[in-house]
Amino acid sequence: MVTSMRRQLYAEHLEQLNCVAEQLTLSNSIPDVLDHVAVCAERLVGAKRVSYCELEDDGEHIRLLGLVGKVEDQTGQLISLAESGLGPIFATGNGRYVSSLEYATTAKGRSLRSSGLNHVWSLPIICGGAVEGVVNIASPSIELHSDDSYSVVETLSRLTGSTIERIKARDQSEALLRQLVTQSATDPLTGLCNRAEFRRRLQSSIEQAEMLQQSIGILFLDLDLFKLINDTLGHSVGDTVLQLVAGRIVNTLGPSYTVAREGGDEFIILLPGLTSDTELRNIAGSVVTAMKPSVLTGSFELDVSASIGVCRFPQDGTTVDDLIKNADIAMYRAKDLGRNQYQFYTRELGEAVARKVQLSRALAHAIRDNEFNLLFQPQIDIVTGQIVAVEALLRWRSAEVGNIPPDVFIPIAENSGLIADLTSWVLKNALESLAHWHKYNPDLRIAVNVSAREFSGNSNLFERVVTALERSGIEPQALELEMTETALLSHPEKAALLIKQLSDAGVQLAIDDFGTGYASMSYLIQMPIDSIKIDRSFVNGLENDRCKQAVVNGIFNIATDMQLSCVGEGVENLNQLNWLREKGCRFAQGYLISKPCSASEVADMLKQQATRAEAEEPAIVVKAAG
Ligand code: C2E
Ligand code: CA
Ligand code: CA
Repeated sequence: MVTSMRRQLYAEHLEQLNCVAEQLTLSNSIPDVLDHVAVCAERLVGAKRVSYCELEDDGEHIRLLGLVGKVEDQTGQLISLAESGLGPIFATGNGRYVSSLEYATTAKGRSLRSSGLNHVWSLPIICGGAVEGVVNIASPSIELHSDDSYSVVETLSRLTGSTIERIKARDQSEALLRQLVTQSATDPLTGLCNRAEFRRRLQSSIEQAEMLQQSIGILFLDLDLFKLINDTLGHSVGDTVLQLVAGRIVNTLGPSYTVAREGGDEFIILLPGLTSDTELRNIAGSVVTAMKPSVLTGSFELDVSASIGVCRFPQDGTTVDDLIKNADIAMYRAKDLGRNQYQFYTRELGEAVARKVQLSRALAHAIRDNEFNLLFQPQIDIVTGQIVAVEALLRWRSAEVGNIPPDVFIPIAENSGLIADLTSWVLKNALESLAHWHKYNPDLRIAVNVSAREFSGNSNLFERVVTALERSGIEPQALELEMTETALLSHPEKAALLIKQLSDAGVQLAIDDFGTGYASMSYLIQMPIDSIKIDRSFVNGLENDRCKQAVVNGIFNIATDMQLSCVGEGVENLNQLNWLREKGCRFAQGYLISKPCSASEVADMLKQQATRAEAEEPAIVVKAAG
């Protein structure tokens, strides 16, 4: 009879365990698990309190992570491991049943006994082979045979363990996922949102603004001369500056606007719900102003400024890509106008950029399609009237976009990486023409313009020049490379090295447009330069302008001291030529002598000159038709 009662009870307990197992599969938190376990444990062994605790990292305390059955909630409480009496369970992974708690020696045991809880099952929760925590099931009395009770409670604790293991694994992967999501939305250096997140937010702002018929402002901010900070003071100072700038923008705008780091030293700001352009101007102005105070990093005090491009939804663009692109275009306008300011996007700006894109596409196949040719402008010795050199000037006649002047396409070629190919093309063709003209004047030199870009970075200009000279059979002394002062600005050491290499090889070097650049005079004159070309802006109107005369006189003095020869550029009338001659300027170039002309026209001029020399006629200033 007793046995059949035990069987029946056992069957009921199995049903209870099945029932709780089902509930636990749906549980998603430890307190929820404990609620179900407590109900089941009450039915199984009359339990009145169920708790779950885990060992702290210090190894000396346990933390209560769930407790059912006590009036006040003590979840989160720390208890000394020694006082809990659970040390051996954490150490060995063996469970324990204590009855008749009068024998309990621990403070916890005594406290349970005083609450009338005489039976406690403390069972380890094993996850991945290690003791993850301990579940304690306490009951005032049990009707069951203690062995049966132990085994049902043990089964219950195993179910609890596997559920807690599942919940923890899920919590961990969710935390990881959250971390990944935040990381993928955040710029690690500044903590601002990153470009991908910015685009997501802009997209949803656009959708909202379309519904509510609102305006959005976009500010595209680029730090001025940041590369200089990075290059001269190092990347860690650069990083500090970026972090400080990010902080300044956020402090200026407050938390309601999205500020993102677009990359490098570019930031982008989303201003939804705009009411007017004035509001936008005020905000853009306040960001420019916020950059003003000097930045202190270590022992450096740096002046930081920013150029900002502003564009608006819907006036200036209606898609994420267009809005960002147009704000970027406006930012470049702010740079062009002198930096440290903001500029609004305009349709004209957009058209100018579209034109540049069109030109750079057409330029990409212009060499292949034979769209370039060279014109040549003679340079004369003012005293003898003889042509001593010829400057090669590049022309582009595009089938797609028509005739484009070099002032327009050279900067595009520089920015699109085509300049090296173009310089090589000019060198090759100019040297070929010179080889031909040497029949008439074996001392003639050819001058080739070399872009400042060719003197910076990893240009292989020297090798290309040497190859072109070798192929043409021209002596290096007959080639003159014209470079502007800006060639020395961006990578002065590399440029100086290249200039020395070229000079050592015998190539002549001239500073073009002298007086218009920013290079320091003392630095310039340390270079192995052969001549300077006085910019046309000084020669134009020179005969009546005392200021210009003073500047040009100063240039002549320096040139004489440094034993450099001088070429007056853009000479258009005899007054200018005479003034230059009187001041001792030896060479001249300009429309008065000849406009840029074709190779065959140059050949004709040289032939004439040779004939005159043979006839011992006095040399005269040559003037070509066109
Ligand atoms: P630049 O090197 O200063 O060339 C002289 C420019 O002044 C030429 O313009 C020439 O036509 C013009 N010019 C010459 N004499 C006079 C004059 O008496 N009065 C006036 N008003 N103008 C005169 P161009 O050919 O349009 O070239 C403009 C610039 O484009 C050149 O200025 C040079 O910087 C660049 N360039 C031309 N060809 C090349 C090239 O092959 N490579 C590179 N990198 N730049 C080139
Ligand atoms: Ca030139
Ligand atoms: Ca020039």
